[in-house]
Amino acid sequence: MPKVLIIGAGGVGAVVAHKCAQVPEVFSEITLASRTQSKCEAIARQLPVKVRTAQVDADNVPQTVALLRDLKPDLVINVALPYQDLHIMDACLEAGVNYLDTANYEPPDVARFEYRWQWDYQERFAKAGLMALLGSGFDPGVTSVFCTHILKHHLDTATEIDIIDCNAGSHGQPFATNFNPEINIREVSAKGRYYQDGQWIETEPLTHKQPFVMPEDLGSLNVYLMYHEELESLARHIPGLKRARFWMSFSDNYLKHLEVLKNVGMTRIDPVTFNGQQIVPLQFLKALLPDPASLGPLTRGKTCIGCQVRGMKDGRPKTVFVYNICDHEACYREVCSQAISYTTGVPAMIGAKLMLTGAWSGKGVFNMEQFDPDPFMAALNAHGLPWKVIENTVFTA
Ligand code: NDP
Repeated sequence: MPKVLIIGAGGVGAVVAHKCAQVPEVFSEITLASRTQSKCEAIARQLPVKVRTAQVDADNVPQTVALLRDLKPDLVINVALPYQDLHIMDACLEAGVNYLDTANYEPPDVARFEYRWQWDYQERFAKAGLMALLGSGFDPGVTSVFCTHILKHHLDTATEIDIIDCNAGSHGQPFATNFNPEINIREVSAKGRYYQDGQWIETEPLTHKQPFVMPEDLGSLNVYLMYHEELESLARHIPGLKRARFWMSFSDNYLKHLEVLKNVGMTRIDPVTFNGQQIVPLQFLKALLPDPASLGPLTRGKTCIGCQVRGMKDGRPKTVFVYNICDHEACYREVCSQAISYTTGVPAMIGAKLMLTGAWSGKGVFNMEQFDPDPFMAALNAHGLPWKVIENTVFTA
């Protein structure tokens, strides 16, 4: 019976542990390991089944290899930070274990988001007969599966993709991020970038915006063009794609705080000397901001994340929008987390389930859009992230 090791006991790790525990027929043995073992133990106490916990510094490859050799899991679900991706992949190769994550590798000293570093592992994973599934969260993750679902069932060709990530919820805090503050602020402050006609077009951070009217009377929000990693893999794997963009909603309040923090240097990621000590301002800011895991009981409202794909069907232009709406309070009632952690943790569990049952299989390094979307889409409905389709309504300009 399959054994899984979850690395990372933050907001997302907690949801992955809860959701794996709900599917004991697949995840018969679960170990939750992280840098701070007490966080694993606190999560373990919330679960209906017994899980093991362990301490590991995933940046220390020999330490991770030793843990893998001791536990002998079939799969590592990496929900630590993107900085750990390559170290955990190295450890998996050495110990002969399959790998899954939800965010692409980022070097700590430069906010660059690209798959190159992880795609470079293709040959090594293939040679070892192992599988690595990259980006099995919501975005990236479900967004790629929504696109391949639309291509498989609603269109003959896809030419334009717009991914729209809206959070219409509120945590009532003056300023907080819904997932790891350091990763979130690095992502949001980076230049925008989108794919058009085989080229990448760069924009200044958060300079392109448009209103987005959410379905199901959720209201309207401003969404801002950003770079997001699935654009890179979709542009590579979807033939004939002419344009791919990613939009995310931010409240005016969030943007006001971010602008001030940036202007005073608090979002810098290079070390500065303070009282004879080297500190990275963004890491210091993270220490001051609310822990995303603590926002669970405070957050109200809903998220709406979807993909609008334009293309051709039977010789005619067609637009299809597939989306999920997720309620922060319902997530908290189910797994003690807000919807951002929930919408990431559920797809991580589903990707793991498909790998462990053989529904998605292969040797090498894969992105989500390389597999048949059907079993994943069915599992989303079964495990708490139901989706809907709207045809021929245009949501973005
Ligand atoms: P948190 O900061 O809440 O949790 C990160 C966890 O990783 C913490 O438990 C932390 O330990 C642990 N960790 C950090 N460094 C190490 C290390 N060297 N060794 C072992 N454990 C370590 O982050 P989130 O839960 O919010 O996010 C987790 C991941 O999910 C991130 O990679 C994020 O980018 C990704 N994500 C993906 C999304 C998607 O849709 N695809 C959306 C949202 C997030 P400690 O407690 O000691 O700090």
